[in-house]
Amino acid sequence: MIGEFIGAGALGAAGAFGAYWYLKFRDVLPMESSLQSSRKAFADFTVFARETMERAFAPEQPEHYGDITNYYLMKLHKSFPDSSILLFEKEPGQWRLVNYLKYFKAEPKLLTSYKWSAFDRSSAEGELLRFDDVRAGDYQGVEELFSVFGIKSALMCPFMPPAGAPERLMLFGAADRSFFDAAQPYLRFVASQLSSISRVSDKVFSLKKEADQLKNEVNAVVKELDVAGSRLIQRARERKALYEVVTQVTGPGGDSRNGCAAILNIVAKMVEADVVACLLYDEAKGELVVSPGSYGITDAERMLYSIPVNNQSSSSVRTFLTRKPFISADAQNDPDVLARYAKLWEIHSLMIVPISLHDRIIGVMRVGSRRADFFTPDQLEFLTIIADELAIIIEMVTLYENLSKTAQELAQLNKLKDEFLSTVSHELKTPLTTIKGFVSVILSGEVGPLNEQQIKFLTVTDQSVNRLTHLISDLLDLSRLNGKVEMEFQRMDLAELVRNSVSSMLLKAKEKNVALSNETGKDLPQVQADTRWIGQVVDNLLINAIKYAGPGASVKVSGSDKGEAVVICVEDNGPGIPQEEQKMVFDKFYRGKASAKQVPGTGLGLAISKSVIEKHGGKIWLESRPGKGAKFCFALPVPKQEA
Ligand code: ADP
Repeated sequence: MIGEFIGAGALGAAGAFGAYWYLKFRDVLPMESSLQSSRKAFADFTVFARETMERAFAPEQPEHYGDITNYYLMKLHKSFPDSSILLFEKEPGQWRLVNYLKYFKAEPKLLTSYKWSAFDRSSAEGELLRFDDVRAGDYQGVEELFSVFGIKSALMCPFMPPAGAPERLMLFGAADRSFFDAAQPYLRFVASQLSSISRVSDKVFSLKKEADQLKNEVNAVVKELDVAGSRLIQRARERKALYEVVTQVTGPGGDSRNGCAAILNIVAKMVEADVVACLLYDEAKGELVVSPGSYGITDAERMLYSIPVNNQSSSSVRTFLTRKPFISADAQNDPDVLARYAKLWEIHSLMIVPISLHDRIIGVMRVGSRRADFFTPDQLEFLTIIADELAIIIEMVTLYENLSKTAQELAQLNKLKDEFLSTVSHELKTPLTTIKGFVSVILSGEVGPLNEQQIKFLTVTDQSVNRLTHLISDLLDLSRLNGKVEMEFQRMDLAELVRNSVSSMLLKAKEKNVALSNETGKDLPQVQADTRWIGQVVDNLLINAIKYAGPGASVKVSGSDKGEAVVICVEDNGPGIPQEEQKMVFDKFYRGKASAKQVPGTGLGLAISKSVIEKHGGKIWLESRPGKGAKFCFALPVPKQEA
């Protein structure tokens, strides 16, 4: 029983063993091997994906995209060495083979462009297309290609190229389709990677383009700023120079003679010139002549340079005639410049600008440098502005010279006139005294009786002689005052002097029917003065007031203590003096328009009075409202201890 049992048990075990192995061989082993191979495939794919992704960087240049594509295709080919990998690019109406990967012993001859509707379908659907047997479909157009590569089955996969580049398509071909299943994920992965890289590249390129554009813009702005900056500096320097020039021209105490030299100096510094000269037109000679005060030229050189204005070959003359600025980079070798003058001044670069005042051209400014090609058009423009200022100062110099020449001549004439008057007056004084003496004796009847007519004639003669004597006496006074007459200063009482003068004029005033009154107080401080000359001033003012106020008028004399000065005034209520004449009445020989015809006089009284008062350190003045009379006052200083 047990044996049976054992026997049955052994049989059962052997059956189970057999069943186990049967099942293992039939189901489990293939499953295990496929599990292993799919594990390996997974591992391989992971390695492939990791390796390729390490290189999946966005290219910096569009050309680099091709390199990345090639790298991917090479990796793919390495994973499937029995395959052929072909890369096509879409062209209008056809596809161009741009690259392929397969080992050939001899390089095959290939067409480059292909037409196969399957390409278009794959690219249109954007999906992986599978041909288990390419010949089963319409493979006209690529059959030769496929035969060269030994392709019987194919996988086609389009991918997105960078923006603007033609569409691309990858063809994975093989003699049989055994590894198509394995290759499909690789292909999909490669196509999606390349598409993503394209997309990223597009962004990178456009960003890079934007960055480049921005960089260019920034560079342009920086350059512009640079240029503007140096222009500003240049302008600032020019403004400063111009300011200095204008200060020379208009500044207080600006010496116009040296001003010209100063301007040429400023110009020389401003444009770093070695020679700066003004060539002024000398009308008498018909030449352009270098004026004194030039910069960098000796007087000897200056004398050698003068050009007739008909010499058209001279650049200075041409600028003078046409008023057009001229610039030369190498004056010694320039056919438009007279080389000998450029050599004389040892210059190469040359600028010439016209100097004109309003519409009148007066000369040119010549600026030279020993260095060739040294001056710029900007500097030429700056020079033309300076030349305008220079014109003003040259005009001022000329005016100043003419004026001082005229002033000198006038002073000389005046001196001659004074000498002449003085001599004539002296010469006339003695015979006049004799005439007056004899006329008086005859008139007195001492030398015999006179008839009425003789008396009348002699009286007129006597009056004329008196007038002449008066004039001579005034002239002599004036000549003495102009010369070195010594005043005899002494302490004196002005109130007393005024009293005496007024008393001596009372009779005259009465004759003229003028009311003369003296309101001067007795207690005026004493002054230092020459009694004779001051007496003459008071007399003169009184005589004028009586003369010009006319019959029926009243004349009032007053004196006042002003502390530092004593003021004496002679006031009348006559016709007064018109406003426009008031400034001139103290001038020598000036006589009022109205009075000159009616009242005799010399026009010297007030001039003498003014000179006398000024010699005393005092002042004389006039207040008058026409029709309301005239008031002449003078002030004499009171010595400190008296004040
Ligand atoms: P003269 O009296 O000899 O003309 P003056 O030098 O004394 O010369 O005076 C100059 C001028 O001033 C006079 O011609 C006259 O026109 C004017 N003048 C002077 N005093 C008076 C006055 N008191 N009233 C009006 N005019 C006067």
